Formats: sequence, structure tokens, C-alpha cells
Amino acid sequence: MKNIFISSLILILAGSIVVAQSHHTKDGFRNPYPGFENRGLSDVFKWAVIDRMAGKKPYHPDTYQFTQEENDGKWLRQNDSTFSVTWVGHSTLLIQIDGLNILTDPIWSDRASPLSFVGPKRYMPPGLPFEDLPEIDLVLISHDHYDHLDKETVRRLGNKPLYLVPLGIGSLLEDWGITHFAELDWWDSNRVNGVEMICLPAQHFSGRMLTDRDKRLWASWLVNGKTFKIYFGGDSGYFPGYKEIGEKYGPVDFAALPIGAYKPRWFMAPVHMGPKEALQAMADLKARTFIPIHWGTFDLADETLDDPPKYLHELIAKKQLDAHHFWFFKHGETRTK
Ligand code: ZN
Ligand code: ZN
Repeated sequence: MKNIFISSLILILAGSIVVAQSHHTKDGFRNPYPGFENRGLSDVFKWAVIDRMAGKKPYHPDTYQFTQEENDGKWLRQNDSTFSVTWVGHSTLLIQIDGLNILTDPIWSDRASPLSFVGPKRYMPPGLPFEDLPEIDLVLISHDHYDHLDKETVRRLGNKPLYLVPLGIGSLLEDWGITHFAELDWWDSNRVNGVEMICLPAQHFSGRMLTDRDKRLWASWLVNGKTFKIYFGGDSGYFPGYKEIGEKYGPVDFAALPIGAYKPRWFMAPVHMGPKEALQAMADLKARTFIPIHWGTFDLADETLDDPPKYLHELIAKKQLDAHHFWFFKHGETRTK
């Protein structure tokens, strides 16, 4: 009897510890990992208004000289056996693995915005024209921000692909006429053609309006294929979750990690890594090859669009890392393995 009492007590205590560390709240989600510091509306105001008025945002040019690789998609449409990754721009990747065509956070629109005439505009056209895409089997969504979940692109892709999305995003898709989706919580997985897609933590936030902050979950994804493991980071600050993921699923063959929208650090660090933290995340995930994403497409923060890859190159040289472990894509480029 006494033993039952003690074990029940332990269970209750263990239960309360799990609840205390949960990323679920009563009406949404939160960042549960230690060290996370929330930035509130007053911080947004300081960054977006006060510091701008004080001239703290450095000069940003109107155009950038990024080289674009012509990609007509012909090879991609024929390929059903070779592992390939194509960088369309920003966080949009076309991954071909084990016969599946997978898109991550697809955006082909001219602006990352609810409105077609205002909001962050595209500085580089999509590296692969939408019409040149192979037939898409799967779409992975990391979170609901406009630069990652684009209504127009989802409508164009239609109901044929399966959309794997973090909790809460399904109702948005339904509003757009999409019914072929599965909502996943962190650590849940879904299997398609023998390839396992695992929804994993990220340290970020969500919201498309002023009233829906953190109501839908944010996530990263691991595509655990028969041939390769590729991790897609979505948007995230550096956080202890990388070590946890690396221990559970590492080593991974490829890690596509965000490096842009990272300045100023006082404001962005909790929710956006820069190149320096992304290198640490690469190590934590035990990733063999790093694919830098979330740069060179939309102007979202205080650094110029060409700053993140330059800084990453500098760090690689300074730390004397092997350049073969870094796949720096041109917009539109395809690489195979
Ligand atoms: Zn975001
Ligand atoms: Zn983003």
C-alpha cells in the first residue's frame, strides 16, 4: 500500500515536471527550453521605430549581385533515384530523396506579406520557375510566418501533395481549400513511401496577425530517408534542442539551417540564429554537410542580404573548417549526392 502511494506520488511529480516543461499552453504554445527570453511589443517598437529613427539600421542597397543558376527543372522532373537538393531561395528547398519530391516552406510570391503591394519584397526571383517543378509529393511547413507559409503558393500547389504541418496550421490550410494534410506535434512522425518525416522542436514564435501570437506551433523537420538524413531547421534561435536532436537522431547527413534575419542580436537572438550559432547547431546535430538557408531573398532584419553568407565564409576560414562540408548554393542551383 505504502509502495503504491509512493509510486503514485512519483508519477504525479513526474507528471507535473513534464507539464512544467511542456511547449503547450492553454491556448497555444511557448518556447520551453531554458535560456529563452521573450521579446515583447515594447522591444518590437524599440527595434522597428525608435532605433530606425535614430538611424541605427545600416544602409541597405536596392539590388544585390547574387548569381543565379539557370534551372529549367528538366533533369529534376526525370530524376526518381538520385538524391538532390535545389535551393529555390530563402527557406524553400526542393529535396528529392528515395523517389519522393519534397518542398520545404514553399514561397514563389513576390512579397512575404498578407498584401500583394506592401511588405518584404523578393530581391531574387525564385531559382526554379514554379511551372518547372516536378510533381510534388510532400510539403513540409515549419511555421506560419509569411516568408514560410505562403497562401498563394499553397493554392498553386493544390491538394495533390501531402502537407505536413505543426499543430494548429491545419485550419489555415482548410481555409485555403487544402484537406490533404497532417498536423504533428514535436517528436511525432509520419511515414511516406518508407521515408520518415519527424516533426522536431525549434525556438521561434508564430502569428500572422496581431491577435494570433503563438497560437500555432513552430517546428523543424528531419527527413529520415533510406539513403540520407536531412534536417530542415525552419526559423530558430540557437537553443539546447539541437543537442537533444543530435543525440537522438544524429549524425545527420545534411542540415539546412537558417543564417539570415539575425541582426540586431539584442532583439533577434532568441528567435533567429546568425552564422556563428548555426555553426554550433551544425556541431550539435552532428551534421556532415551544412546548407545555409533563410538569406538572400527577403529583407527582414538589420543586416544586408549578402552579410550572412559572407560572415559564414569568414568563420569557416577562421576556424579552418573543411569547405567540403558546406554547400553554398546559388539561387536555383541543384546539387546531388
Ligand atoms: Zn519566422
Ligand atoms: Zn523566416
